[in-house]
Amino acid sequence: MTTPSPDTVLITFTGMDRPGVTSTVFTALAAFGGEVLDIEQIVLRRRLVLGVLVSASRDPKALRAAVERVAADLDMQVAVERGEGDNRARRGGRTHVTVLGMPLRPGPVAAIAGRIADTGANIDRIERMARYPVTAIELHVSGADPDRLRVVLAEEAARQSVDVAVQPATLLRHGMRLIVMDVDSTLVQGEVIEMLAERAGCLDRVAQVTEAAMRGELDFEQSLRERVALLEGLDAGALDEVYDALQLAPGARTMVRTLKRLGYRFAIVSGGFTQVTDRIAADLGIDFTAANELEVVAGRLTGRILGPVVDRAGKAEALRRFAAAAGVTPAATIAIGDGANDLDMLAAAGLGIAFNAKPVVQRAADTAVNVPYLDAIVYLLGISREEIEAADAEAGVTTPAPPL
Ligand SMILES: [Mg+2]
Repeated sequence: MTTPSPDTVLITFTGMDRPGVTSTVFTALAAFGGEVLDIEQIVLRRRLVLGVLVSASRDPKALRAAVERVAADLDMQVAVERGEGDNRARRGGRTHVTVLGMPLRPGPVAAIAGRIADTGANIDRIERMARYPVTAIELHVSGADPDRLRVVLAEEAARQSVDVAVQPATLLRHGMRLIVMDVDSTLVQGEVIEMLAERAGCLDRVAQVTEAAMRGELDFEQSLRERVALLEGLDAGALDEVYDALQLAPGARTMVRTLKRLGYRFAIVSGGFTQVTDRIAADLGIDFTAANELEVVAGRLTGRILGPVVDRAGKAEALRRFAAAAGVTPAATIAIGDGANDLDMLAAAGLGIAFNAKPVVQRAADTAVNVPYLDAIVYLLGISREEIEAADAEAGVTTPAPPL
C-alpha cells in the first residue's frame, strides 16, 4: 500500500516587485501553520513571480481569503491551486546548457529549445548569467543523455551562429578545477612565431606553414622545426619586442583573476616558446607551463629548439601531468585551444573548449566558443557577471569591459 500524497496548495503571486513582498506573504501564511515545501521567485525588469508550495490548510477558504487580501494590498495578482504532493521529482540526466549570443536573438533560442525538446528532455529552469559583453543564458535540463544532447546542440549552434555548451550537472562543477590553456591565438592574440618571422623578414613563408599546421595538414613538430630554422640569426632582443607587443585575448585577466579567487589552478601549454610563455605565466600568476625553448647563442637565435618539442601528443601529456601535480582528476580539467595541435589536449580534458578555433577543432571539441572574450568561459562554469563584478568591487578593482 502506498501512502497517499498529502494535499498541498500552490500560491503564485505576480506583479511589480517592491520591498517586503516575501515577508508580507509569509506573515499571512504563518497564521495557518503547516509546512513550506518549496519557494521559487524570479524578477524580470521589476516584474515579480513568486511561487509558494505549502501543505493544505484545514480552512482552505480562510487561506484563500487571506492570500487574496495580501495580493490586493500589494497590488498584485494571485492564483491559488489545490493539488497533491510535492513537485514532480526532476528526472535524471541533469545537464547545464549554456547559450552565448552577441546579441542573443529569439530565433536561436527557439531552435535550441526545440532541439532539447526533440531529445525528450525538459527545461526545468532558465537563468541569465551575463548581459555583457555577451548575453549568456543557462538552461537547467533534465531527462537528457548529455552526450547525445551535446552532439545535437553543437550542430544547431553552428547553424544558428551562437555558442552552446552542454555539461552534465555533477558535483564536479562546484569544485576546484585546473584550466589548461593554449597560448597563441587563445590566451594571446596572434601567433608569436609570425611576429618573430616578421622581424626576421620571412613572415610570408612562416605564416603559410603555420596556417596549414593549425588546420592539421602538416606534422606539427616537423613544421615547427622548419619554421624555427627560418629564424636563424635573428637578434634575441626580438623576443622582448614581441613580448612587449603581445595583446592578451579580451577577458583573459578577468577569467584568471576570478577563477583564482575560487582556488582554480592554471596551466599554459604551448607549441610556442618559453622565452615568451614564461613571462606571460609570471604576469598572470599561472601555476604550470610547458612550451618549447628556442636556442640562443651569443645573443642570436640559432634556428634550433632545445629538448623535445611540445607537440600535439605532448600537450595532452602535459595536461595529465599538471592535473596530477594539482591533485585533480583529468575529469576536473578544462582545456582551451584553437589549433589542430590542441586536439589531443581538448580530448583528454573533462571539458574541451574550442576557442575561436579552426573548423577541425570546433568539430572535435565538446564545446565551441566563438565570441572573442575569454571571460565567457567563466559563464560556462555557472558564475555570473554580477558575481565577478561584486568580487572585483570588493577587491577595489573595476571589472574591465572589453570593447564591444
Ligand atoms: Mg593556438
